[in-house]
Amino acid sequence: MDLIDNINRKLAALDAQSLLRRRRVVDTRCSPLQVVDGRAMLAFCSNDYLGLAAHPRVVDALRTGAQLYGAGSGASHLISGHSRAHAILEERLAELVAPHIEDARALYLSTGYMANLAVLTALGLDADAVIFSEALNHASLIDGARLAKAGVSVYPHGDVAALEALLANSTAATKIVATDAVFSMDGNLAPLPELLALCERHGAWLFVDDAHGFGVLGAQGRGALEHFGLRSPNIVYVGTLGKAAGVAGAFIAAHASVIELMIQRARPYIYTTAAPPALAHALLTSLDIITSDEGAALRSHLELLIAQLDADLRLARWQRPASNTPIQPIIIGANDEALRVAAALYAKGLWVPAIRPPTVPKGTARLRVTLSAAHTHDEVAQLVTALNELEAM
Ligand code: PMP
Repeated sequence: MDLIDNINRKLAALDAQSLLRRRRVVDTRCSPLQVVDGRAMLAFCSNDYLGLAAHPRVVDALRTGAQLYGAGSGASHLISGHSRAHAILEERLAELVAPHIEDARALYLSTGYMANLAVLTALGLDADAVIFSEALNHASLIDGARLAKAGVSVYPHGDVAALEALLANSTAATKIVATDAVFSMDGNLAPLPELLALCERHGAWLFVDDAHGFGVLGAQGRGALEHFGLRSPNIVYVGTLGKAAGVAGAFIAAHASVIELMIQRARPYIYTTAAPPALAHALLTSLDIITSDEGAALRSHLELLIAQLDADLRLARWQRPASNTPIQPIIIGANDEALRVAAALYAKGLWVPAIRPPTVPKGTARLRVTLSAAHTHDEVAQLVTALNELEAM
């Protein structure tokens, strides 16, 4: 029993710090109106920013994909799992990013987490490489840096001058600057134009994780690179496909030689069963919607919802860091208070997650409101009213 007691002590310690996580069972499809553990809720939790997860055309395409290609791929990509659906998707993704990366090629992976591990372990394969990692990077970038043979140097959040000093002093043969494009718990953007200029000056790669920007940012939803109008052979880009694109997986886009290196050396790509081809087939429809007038209309509606939240929230005690993206954090501070506020919202039928360390720095526990084009103005008004009332209590 010692083994189990040891585990239980660890769990009790988490509980004592209000750090125990719980899962809720969602009975309905991903949408703002959900039945959760049997109860109707209005949810502000998902990263389904355009409402494509339950879009009838995407769901139909998934069904067609399963009819065409079956349920599973049967093997990893380098054995026999690389289907025509994967190949077509990769060509389409490469076309999408072509304005931003010279000689672009794309590679589809099962998750964004794996895509980030793949980039950092393959680009940072040698001990004479250094990964310059932004302080607020997502866990998958942190883990990728840990797994790489390269050295790791963390630079302070948004601090271009500090990064410049680190790059200037580095003698590394390969330099890789790794950053979230949209910070996942704050919603703000990395200063990508300045970072790219630095990388070009110092012969470094700029590795951009655009998990929360792809589909959302840019006139055609091509993400942060389109938003900032960037183009460079130094860019290695990851876009995820389980958030705004509404399905699952992620892609790496970069110069064709970088992608070839990934295929040859990236273990998170090589040693895993290829995602079901039906997902790749469904994603073609997601991409059609993202880049069409319909996608532009969804992004316009989302922008209006973000502006509505910004204009109508009247918070005095809780902090709201500036964010123009669908990720709208409300910093509460203490873990237990963040949990209490989330529970009070839940009691009113509003589901907003409380995010605590280690996902965010200590003392910055927060509500992470995420908006989706699937929300209505009335639904956002309900959330705003509840938050204004709770804060005043
Ligand atoms: N990067 C960032 C910034 C993320 O927020 C996430 C997902 N939470 C990922 C990568 C991982 O993507 P996926 O969920 O597809 O594994």
